[in-house]
Amino acid sequence: VIDMGQPEHSVVTTCAYCGVGCSFKAEMKGDQVVRMVPYKGGDANHGHSCVKGRFAFGYATHKDRIKQPMIRDAITDPWREVSWDEAIAFAAKRLKEVQGTYGRESIGGITSSRCTNEETYLVQKLVRAAFGNNNTDTCARVCHSPTGYGLKTTLGESAGTQTFDSVMESDVIVVIGANPTDAHPVFGSLMRKRLREGAELIVIDPRRIDLLKTPHLKDAQHLPLRPGTNVAIVNALAHVIVTEGLEDTDFIASRCDDKAYQAWREFILEERHAPEAVEAITGVPADKVRRAARTYAKAPNGAIYYGLGVTEHSQGSSMVMGIANLAMATGNIGREGVGVNPLRGQNNVQGSCDMGSFPHELPGYQHVADDAARARFEKSWGVKLDDEPGLRIPNMFDSAIAGTFKALYVQGEDIAQSDPNTQHVEAALKSLECLIVQDIFLNETAKFAHVLLPGSTFLEKNGTFTNAERRINRVRKVMPPVAGKEDWEVTQDLANALGYPMNYAHPSEIMDEIAGLTPSFTGVSYDKLEQLGSIQWPCNDQYPEGTPTMHVEDFPIGRGQFAITEYVATEERTTSRFPLLLTTGRILSQYNVGAQTRRTDNQVWHDEDVLEVHPSDAELRGIQDGDWLGVSSRSGQTVLRARISDRMLPGVVYTTFHHPGSGANVITTDSSDWATNCPEYKVTAVQVEKVSQP
Ligand code: SF4
Repeated sequence: VIDMGQPEHSVVTTCAYCGVGCSFKAEMKGDQVVRMVPYKGGDANHGHSCVKGRFAFGYATHKDRIKQPMIRDAITDPWREVSWDEAIAFAAKRLKEVQGTYGRESIGGITSSRCTNEETYLVQKLVRAAFGNNNTDTCARVCHSPTGYGLKTTLGESAGTQTFDSVMESDVIVVIGANPTDAHPVFGSLMRKRLREGAELIVIDPRRIDLLKTPHLKDAQHLPLRPGTNVAIVNALAHVIVTEGLEDTDFIASRCDDKAYQAWREFILEERHAPEAVEAITGVPADKVRRAARTYAKAPNGAIYYGLGVTEHSQGSSMVMGIANLAMATGNIGREGVGVNPLRGQNNVQGSCDMGSFPHELPGYQHVADDAARARFEKSWGVKLDDEPGLRIPNMFDSAIAGTFKALYVQGEDIAQSDPNTQHVEAALKSLECLIVQDIFLNETAKFAHVLLPGSTFLEKNGTFTNAERRINRVRKVMPPVAGKEDWEVTQDLANALGYPMNYAHPSEIMDEIAGLTPSFTGVSYDKLEQLGSIQWPCNDQYPEGTPTMHVEDFPIGRGQFAITEYVATEERTTSRFPLLLTTGRILSQYNVGAQTRRTDNQVWHDEDVLEVHPSDAELRGIQDGDWLGVSSRSGQTVLRARISDRMLPGVVYTTFHHPGSGANVITTDSSDWATNCPEYKVTAVQVEKVSQP
């Protein structure tokens, strides 16, 4: 615990970690944070917090912080500390040279879900207006892009339907591919509270998550499916609901598109979707699937919560649509206690998607090919915009290796550690002629950079984050930026150096521009955020104070669209050479690639990634708890310490990726979701064997 005496004043701001978006009072002594106190007035957390938000803020003043811009001609050269002006001028000159030599499409920008809405908006504006192309993407590409695609296709909006508090009205809680007590701890605790009150729990996950150990839990159901078979099981659940007459026919008739429904019904009635028919695929006994389907469909209020165990698959988008199909078929949409609820990993995944950082969408999910939408942005920004979607992150890597993509601006994202198939990513980064990294630390990606621009932490800037329940929360500056600039100012300087004028005096002006161009944000302003505390979008003339529950009377696309979700087996198969399936996840005390939490006292709780191995697989290989294990896949190899655990099925191993070097992404492949290219982090065929200590 960091305690530096009595505070002199406090500032309310928002946690920089997960998608719960807890509000904290930063208690200050001068410019020093004395402690972070969970804020009782926080609409997402009501005074609760976890070990990350409360204790892991010390990274902001860690000695590793980059305080001075740095440049170098080649990545083999030493870094040279320079002024902000020199670094920005160097970056702009390089970008112009690259575009002059290789063309307008040869450069792009990536932003992070850890950045504020205003910063993200500016990065995509920089790319579109100053770079002149749509090569902008966000790290949401590698986590929840299938949520965006799947929910927009079926329900008409790329967002979850409920508030967190809505779970207190749920009778049945279905958790698919998520581990809320570790990854979203404050919401995980709220779920536990509701479960202790008597709600039923269904977990669909290869791993026995801690939620299943909730005290006084009523007859919890666990469907431990094989990694990569989500769509087979969601279709089987739907098959039971339809064949046993458990549908909500009134909801379907009044709210859903009949043609799409009839086509889906015909598809799902096929015997090949019966639980007995897919048992051999999923490994889950048919009677368990039948029971779970009945429990969910018969509940007065059934809510589904899901995480990256749904999205990070080659069929991530199909699975999201399959979940929406279940909710529509049972009428579990449009009131408290029900819904389809993606649990977003990072604090601003929802916001980074909302702000137009996808290569095919302007802010507010307006397609770049939509002439009317583009015209509004062209008028506001004073430029002609490209109507062709740009490159996604994996396409940028492939194009870099092919020699057509030559320069990249990365704000707040460590792509060399967090993206799959590290060897491929590093080869792409090495081939760039200009890599500009804006970050708070000299991260793994910075090893390949030519320009390093110091970033600012959440404590050093103003802005907003949007959490997993679409709640826009204020981020308030509590101390000056250690390198003298907030992140949005750096992007603005780069735009100006490239000849595209940006002249914002404060992030509130950026939000005013966002509100003017984004239909779901038209009623949002900093003044209203001060007045209401937080706002859940859509916030507009129809919903001036925001929208806690979505789709109450209708869907933004009129009627709900059932989608055909054909199960296709992943190409990542086990063989005699790679006989085990690796899947990945998170742990409570660490966050994402660990760049922040590893530089705080949280490090002592989890100082290395380990490989969980089932006792039967361990016995077969003579593995003891604590042994060093060589883990190899078709992509690469790493070494991890063994932890014998029966939380996984035999044949399945599990690890986290909080530490560089040893982490999972050295061995994950670059298979990805068919619709969005979200990587298939959750399924990698591997071999495991004992090795001597690395
Ligand atoms: Fe809340 Fe998540 Fe931060 Fe924990 S990490 S305090 S649950 S926002």
